[in-house]
Amino acid sequence: MGVEFGPFEVGDATNDPQASAPYAFLEGDAGDSVWNPLRDDIGFRAGRLNIYWVDTVCGGIGSGWSNFGPQVVMGKNTGDELLSYEIGHAFSLTHTDGNANFDATNVMGSAGNTRQFVTEGQLFRAHLNPSSGWNILCQARPEELTRACSFGDSGSLCIKAAEGLC
Ligand SMILES: [Zn+2]
Repeated sequence: MGVEFGPFEVGDATNDPQASAPYAFLEGDAGDSVWNPLRDDIGFRAGRLNIYWVDTVCGGIGSGWSNFGPQVVMGKNTGDELLSYEIGHAFSLTHTDGNANFDATNVMGSAGNTRQFVTEGQLFRAHLNPSSGWNILCQARPEELTRACSFGDSGSLCIKAAEGLC
């Protein structure tokens, strides 16, 4: 996909009294009521992708969630495969579940442990969609061609995908 992570920092809030332990992240679609505490209690770096490792996400230690923006939250027993998927959401990619053009090896399947690849269409969307974190955070395409594909958009320039739960 061309993603290269530059310098990153780890902020350990384990002993921060504002970050309750165990930290349980609830339903991500609830909006600011669940996303703001991560920012306020643990921390947030503007202009960066902020990835939080907490105890549970949606009640599970193996779940994750993206706000399709600069915040990703991961349960304590998640790994790089699910993180790649959540970063895909941050780059505006949607679920491929039920779409015959994708199989279980696609990174954006909402469940499974065989995620390996993204398609050329997904690369296109991640790079050219103005709402992709790639463009918002990295300002990768200033004054260059973009293509808007909103979440769930099934237009000819967008990947057809269905959306499910985390
Ligand atoms: Zn998802």
